[in-house]
Amino acid sequence: MILCGKTIPTRANAKYDPEDLHRCQLHAGHPGKCQEYPYLDHLAGVAPKVKNKVVRDATKTTGAAWKSDDAGPNRISRWVMMLTDAELLSLGIDMSKLKPGIVAKLREKAASYDDCMASAKYLTYLVYGMTNAPEPDAYTHHRTYAGSLQLAQ
Ligand SMILES: [Zn+2]
Repeated sequence: MILCGKTIPTRANAKYDPEDLHRCQLHAGHPGKCQEYPYLDHLAGVAPKVKNKVVRDATKTTGAAWKSDDAGPNRISRWVMMLTDAELLSLGIDMSKLKPGIVAKLREKAASYDDCMASAKYLTYLVYGMTNAPEPDAYTHHRTYAGSLQLAQ
């Protein structure tokens, strides 16, 4: 499937994200407005906490238990952790102030934006495969890996 790929405005809470990072994940030439997680609309309606967890787990590093200088940034976007120490310092994140174990943990969770988008889709697919999960509507089914895998067969 060819994606629309138009830029979606960065949300206010994604303070370290480049302005043009977020991309529409709908198919090219789609009707209506651009969306980053179109396949999560159904879960947002029936299980909003699960929808939020899918987005958080796919795109954010794990949270620090408390906020302090050496605990590291809390739930920072995974793609931000792909930047060099110098680039991070220019954003106000001083990796040299963090404990080596924290740095290793943050770096281990680093992933590109595209990989995060693929993970969000795959997590959504896994959610619908869980015991007692709701049935995805046809639209959602086609937009997740469940749909992609079936179309590929
Ligand atoms: Zn679009």
